[in-house]
Amino acid sequence: MEERLLNMICVGCPVGCDIKVAVEDTKVLSVEGNNCPRALEFAKAEVANPTRVFATTVRVSGGKLPVCPVRSRQAVPKNRLFDISREVARLVVPAPVEVGQVILPDACGTGVDIVASRDLKTEEESA
Ligand code: SF4
Repeated sequence: MEERLLNMICVGCPVGCDIKVAVEDTKVLSVEGNNCPRALEFAKAEVANPTRVFATTVRVSGGKLPVCPVRSRQAVPKNRLFDISREVARLVVPAPVEVGQVILPDACGTGVDIVASRDLKTEEESA
C-alpha cells in the first residue's frame, strides 16, 4: 500500500495546529507540525472514523424568531452530515423551544440526537 501525506487542522484544542499526517491505508505512520502529542490521537481518529459536531438552524413556527440554532449532542460521522442536514431542513418546530429540547432523535440512525442550542419564546410570550 502506498504512503500518502494528508494536511489537516488538529481540533484537539483552540490552537488549531496545521499538521501533516503520513498514512498508509488507514494506519497513521507519523504526524508533523503538532504542538503536543494529542494530535496523534486526533489524526488516528480522523483517518479511521472522522466525526464532527453538527450545527445549523431549524425553522420555528409561531416563535419570536423564525429559526432556532441546533446542534448534535455528540459528534456524528462526517459522512452523515449531509443526510442530517437534509432531515433538519425538513422540520418546522412549534414555539416555544427550550435549550436541550430534542429536535431530531437518533439523527439518521447515528444514535445521536439533534437538540436546541437556546430557548426561543413564542411571539406572544415575547410581546
Ligand atoms: S496539536 Fe495539540 S496544541 Fe495543536 S491543536 Fe492539537 S491539541 Fe492543540
